Amino acid sequence: MKPQVIIIGRPNVGKSTLFNRLVGKKLALVDDQPGVTRDRRLGDAEIAGLQFTVVDTAGWEDDDDLTLPGRMRKQTEASLEGADAAMFVVDARAGLTPLDNEIARYLREYDVPIVLVANKAEGSSGESGVLESYSLGLGEPVPLSAEHGEGIADLFGSLWPII
Ligand code: GDP
Ligand code: MG
Repeated sequence: MKPQVIIIGRPNVGKSTLFNRLVGKKLALVDDQPGVTRDRRLGDAEIAGLQFTVVDTAGWEDDDDLTLPGRMRKQTEASLEGADAAMFVVDARAGLTPLDNEIARYLREYDVPIVLVANKAEGSSGESGVLESYSLGLGEPVPLSAEHGEGIADLFGSLWPII
């Protein structure tokens, strides 16, 4: 079985754009099991010969008041159970929000390797956001642009040692 890499992050940081970038034109399976897996999308990804299953999540999407309702927590928890690694995506243009910090705190409790992704970093627009993301305590961020396809090679460099 291929290693499974889950994409996690607050709404609008570019998780689905990254998913589509990694999966390309290949078939994206819809995981239509009810309940905890309702919002997951699975796809086959490959970067320079490194093959893995990538999982798009929407666990925090309908989280109006920036807290973590148990149901949403459970959903991500269930996804993390089967994951070999997680890509935690933040928005380098917008900078960190309280929800980013809350998700980071939550992720640090898990024994899963994490790649911190600072998305929307095309050009130099995200520089301060990239620097700020070090404060999450999840290691060195990988700056990239899912939309423009920049930085994917660096993502490979961070992923291959852990999956
Ligand atoms: P999700 O809610 O985390 O799944 O985020 P989406 O993938 O739906 O993207 C949210 C918004 O961010 C969309 O308008 C995307 O076009 C935009 N976006 C995604 N990736 C990038 C990027 O690399 N650069 C910029 N500037 N915008 C991006
Ligand atoms: Mg999405």
